[in-house]
Amino acid sequence: MNQLNETDAEKILSAVRIGLWRVEFEEGKPTRFYADAVMDELLGVTGDVTPEERFRFHIAHVHPADMSMFQEYADKLAEVRTEIVYRYLHPLKGEMIVRCGGVRDVSEKGFIYTMGTHQDISETVRLEREREMERRLTEMNKSLQRNRERREDYYRELLDIQSCGILAYTIPDHRVVHMNAEALRMYGIKNIGDAQGKIGNALRSVYYPKPGTVERLRKLQKEDDSVDYECIIGKGSSNESHIVAKTKIVQIPTGERAALTTFVDISEMMVLKNALRQAEEGSRAKSAFLFAMSHDLRTPMNAIIGYANLMETHWGEQELTAGYLKKLKEASQFLLGLIGNVLELARIESGKESLSEEVWDMRKLEDTIDMLLNDEIVRKHLKLEKHMRVTHPYIYCDAMKLREILMNLMSNAVKYTPAGGKVCLTMEELPSEKAGYAQFRGIVEDSGIGISAEYLPHIFEEFTRERNSSESGIQGTGLGLRIVKSFVDMMDGSILVESEQGKGTRFTVLLSCRIAEKNALKQKEASTDRLMLSGKRILLAEDNVLNAEIAMTLLADAQAEVDLAEDGVCAIQKLREVPEGYYDLILTDIQMPRMNGYEMAKTIRALPDAKASIPIIAMTANAFEEDRRAALAAGMDGYVVKPVETAALGKAIAELKI
Ligand code: ADP
Repeated sequence: MNQLNETDAEKILSAVRIGLWRVEFEEGKPTRFYADAVMDELLGVTGDVTPEERFRFHIAHVHPADMSMFQEYADKLAEVRTEIVYRYLHPLKGEMIVRCGGVRDVSEKGFIYTMGTHQDISETVRLEREREMERRLTEMNKSLQRNRERREDYYRELLDIQSCGILAYTIPDHRVVHMNAEALRMYGIKNIGDAQGKIGNALRSVYYPKPGTVERLRKLQKEDDSVDYECIIGKGSSNESHIVAKTKIVQIPTGERAALTTFVDISEMMVLKNALRQAEEGSRAKSAFLFAMSHDLRTPMNAIIGYANLMETHWGEQELTAGYLKKLKEASQFLLGLIGNVLELARIESGKESLSEEVWDMRKLEDTIDMLLNDEIVRKHLKLEKHMRVTHPYIYCDAMKLREILMNLMSNAVKYTPAGGKVCLTMEELPSEKAGYAQFRGIVEDSGIGISAEYLPHIFEEFTRERNSSESGIQGTGLGLRIVKSFVDMMDGSILVESEQGKGTRFTVLLSCRIAEKNALKQKEASTDRLMLSGKRILLAEDNVLNAEIAMTLLADAQAEVDLAEDGVCAIQKLREVPEGYYDLILTDIQMPRMNGYEMAKTIRALPDAKASIPIIAMTANAFEEDRRAALAAGMDGYVVKPVETAALGKAIAELKI
């Protein structure tokens, strides 16, 4: 036997759970449906049923959604062999997917019948569907992953091209979630890998200039908020960055809290801002200087003009005019000193200012005040009180600065006290703890407009003025007290101000000065008053006609023979023309056309003969120490400040011992 017998075939069909059926369609009779046991089981038919009942049962359990498809199949089956997969509603097992295949034939009795197989393929379909679903899920995941990667690349690029820094790290464990190129640059970190280890330290080394910032940022540990602030990253290092930043607490995709910070580097802006501020301050200083010129300098200038007028009126009355002349000279001296002081403010600020020391009589302070403030005091009907209680009037000090301190305080007292008020100067000596030194307390008191408690802490700041004083139209620059404070500091002294608005102000200055002998002042006066140059030949190099005339008169009065050269070139020419030793001295201006004083001195010092060693004294309007040093560096022997005074010139010539 080479073929499977019927019983074996049935066994196999039963094992693989394939049901067999036969449906008969006979004209005028209900359709009959025959089935084997497996088929009945698959249909859910229980007990004895007639073929007609089975047919109805089957039709009743076809899934309604598949009914039209099933009907179509049944119709086709009547013609050809065909197959269908449809849903069958099994009464016990629920929805079932069924594959049904059948063939058509005609019975001996002449009616059509169909027969075929019926198989439950629910499990296979489910597995297929699951597999399909899995395949689709994998596909979807892959596509999502690709999208996510693309999106991440895109956002990374987007963040990296930002000119602002972006940093996100988790709270509280400081795990860096993102750090763009600019943030890495600011923190000096190479890459995001390095950042994980270094971020803690990096964050701790950030400097916050505005107080309270750290506390505001700390609050973010607990509160979901945002903070705007300024900070400096890498303070003091070469890549120090001034930053405007905003930190906001966000929730990152992992669900963790993170601090997201954006930084904008404003370092370049700060540089520009500083430059602008400096430029503004410079221009402010310039206008303040002009104010000072127009007001502070006017006080001594008025005295000069006033006394010159008085001299004119009383010309011929020798005693009176001599007195006026003395006062005029004193006022001129003061004016000169004041100009120096205004310039000194610039020097104080550049740290170039220094103290000079000379012998001075403290009691002269009273004369200075009388001379410079008397008119104003009289005009305003002020009551002036002066108390001078010093046991060591002769002291070594920077007299110009000391007078400037008290004159400034006194002129303020006069300025800010309305007519009829009182101004008082007390200079007293206190017991000194240091041997050879005298301790002075100068008190300047007034019954004037006073100073508000708000302004008082700013009183020594330059360019500041109390509102009521500027509003009242009283002129001022806000420079005076700044100079006063700097001078007091330089002299290792102290200054205190007490004031009540509407009642008055009191300034107290404490200074310690080395005590000098009375003789020291006498010697100074004696040594500087006489200038005798009889028999001396002097070559004067000066381009300014007026200055030349003053110097020539001064030298002629001292009985010197003077030759004038109008610049450095002429002076050298003249020196070359005369025999060695002809001139005893060259007195030269510094700023001259063609060849200035420094160059002239250098050229002379390089001459091949003995003329190279002729003494040279510079006369210059530049009154600062560095100008003196420049003159000496050019090979000059001495230095006098313009306007040239007999005393100073005599001293410089005496030092040369010519
Ligand atoms: P100013 O040229 O404006 O007088 P100062 O530096 O001398 O400049 O003083 C600064 C400011 O301090 C003044 O503008 C004024 O408002 C206040 N001030 C100084 N001295 C007195 C004073 N004796 N009484 C009232 N206000 C004063």
